[in-house]
Amino acid sequence: MAKIKVLSVTSEIFPLIKTGGLADVAGALPLALGRLDVEMRTLVPCYPAIREKLKKAVLEHEFADFYGGKARLLSATFNDLPLLLLEAPHLYDRPGNPYVMADGQNWPDNAARFAALARAGASIGQGLLAGFKPDIVHAHDWQAGLVPAFLHYDARPAPKTVMTVHNLAFQGQFGPEWLARIGLPPQAWHTDGVEYYGTIGYLKAGLRFADKITTVSPTYAVEIRSPAAGMGLDGLINARAGDLVGIINGIDTRVWDPGSDDALESTFDSDHFGARWANRKALQERMGLDQDPDALLCGIVTRLSWQKGLDLLLEAIPALMRLGGQLVLLGAGDANLESGFRAAAATYPGRIACEFGYDERLAHQIQAGSDSILVPSRFEPCGLTQLCALRYGAVPIVARVGGLADTVIDANEMALANGVATGIQFFPVAREPLIEALTRAARLFAVPDDWQLMQTNGMNTDVSWSGPARRYADLYRSLLGRAA
Ligand code: ADP
Repeated sequence: MAKIKVLSVTSEIFPLIKTGGLADVAGALPLALGRLDVEMRTLVPCYPAIREKLKKAVLEHEFADFYGGKARLLSATFNDLPLLLLEAPHLYDRPGNPYVMADGQNWPDNAARFAALARAGASIGQGLLAGFKPDIVHAHDWQAGLVPAFLHYDARPAPKTVMTVHNLAFQGQFGPEWLARIGLPPQAWHTDGVEYYGTIGYLKAGLRFADKITTVSPTYAVEIRSPAAGMGLDGLINARAGDLVGIINGIDTRVWDPGSDDALESTFDSDHFGARWANRKALQERMGLDQDPDALLCGIVTRLSWQKGLDLLLEAIPALMRLGGQLVLLGAGDANLESGFRAAAATYPGRIACEFGYDERLAHQIQAGSDSILVPSRFEPCGLTQLCALRYGAVPIVARVGGLADTVIDANEMALANGVATGIQFFPVAREPLIEALTRAARLFAVPDDWQLMQTNGMNTDVSWSGPARRYADLYRSLLGRAA
């Protein structure tokens, strides 16, 4: 049977450009799908960070005037990933983060920057490139949300579309004055079109017009139908519930492989678990923590944001210290949270250590050296850090929300009796339940055999892309009316 051709449209892709989990998904899914007779190419803006890493690219198409300047579509391959790059210097030739300026404010022309990305994706879907005409265009998050809308209003033969929500908190809303400038017709300005509380809603547009909607865990797919988690879109999501599925993310098990990871002091696997200990020692040393073998060493790798519940963790720190714990945090983002953790580290030298910024290697070292990884998120569409933790033998302590609920088996009495626990869950997401979870963790940690069983259970959990990729492949086949 012919391969299914899918164009993935995304604003970030690991390892070329990454601000969060979206990049990990965009970078790993095409390779996993390749083994299932799905040919996925990825359209991504050609930011400077990407241009620097690519040696060779082939010109596929030129636009004389594309949202205010010349633009080109280039094809290239990086680490086996087939890419289509939208090169538009007037839109993307800017340093740093893809969405915000150095002062943290959004680029004032983000409406045009990501309309351009979606417009290019829609046009490729309509057959712009002779060499690649996709059966399906798969749009990720608000930055690609206009793809299904352009295809709808163009009223030309169109491919099928899938819209994936990685985080409903980011919706891409812009003033109505952009409507004509981004190339949408006046009739799109309607609640049944792209209009969303007086703005143009890019994610709303995707949810309204895509053939299928996915989100990144089954529990989040249920949660976003409620007003509490629906963030204004629950009405539309409920109306489209028949087309909504939750597919859990995997992680790239080549990138996250404790058996071969060159960031680690000592590689290990579940059969050579003793070798893990050297990573714990090395982490304590690097971060300036006391070399205490009995302290429950908790690690965090995170964006510093309200979503991640880190203010609750700050409130729980005295309790964690009373329990004899240690804390190592790697995070970037909110300045108030940063100063909170800075102060905590100053109050408890040798027991709390923080590094602020983005550091892939340290992220791996924390996963390999911590006894436990904390993820106290208020909401979490899927969450990847707990999947990395499972694979690296760090016991996840997580809020029972979204994908965290779906991926961690709580150490309740039944799970412990059956020897299947992989972590600790708590709910509601508040200070006291978090402290209770830390207390349970400390109790379990004091019994090394119980703790190590949870660690190795986690390491033996399949967190790869193979299962999730099969589900995406089945979804694509069903959209095209092909048998699974
Ligand atoms: P989100 O996408 O909401 O930030 P996820 O858990 O889905 O959260 O994905 C976060 C990804 O980014 C993980 O791969 C994690 O290791 C990585 N990450 C987050 N913060 C940092 C950081 N400060 N340094 C290095 N990696 C980070």
